Amino acid sequence: MTTTSTPASDSATPIERFELSPGVFVYRAHNTEDEASFLCPTCFEAGTTSILRRSEATLTVHRVCDRCDARFLERKKPLTNLAMSPWSGF
Ligand SMILES: [Zn+2]
Repeated sequence: MTTTSTPASDSATPIERFELSPGVFVYRAHNTEDEASFLCPTCFEAGTTSILRRSEATLTVHRVCDRCDARFLERKKPLTNLAMSPWSGF
C-alpha cells in the first residue's frame, strides 16, 4: 500500500501584497492558518524570499528583515495612562 499523498493544491503558497500599516506594504504568505508570514518586499522583488522577524519595542511593533535590515512598522501601541495621565500636567 502506498501512502504517498502528495498535496496537489497545497504546494504553492499564495503570496499577496499586504498593507501592514497605512502606507507600509509587505508581502504575505499564507502558509499557516494561524500566523501568516510576512515577506520583505525589497528582497521579494529581488527574487529572494525573506521572512520578516517580529520586533516589539515599548511603543511600536516592527517587522525586520535580517537580510537587508529593512524595518516595517506594523503598529503603534496606544500610549498608556503613564504618558496620557491628565493629572501629570501640573
Ligand atoms: Zn529584505
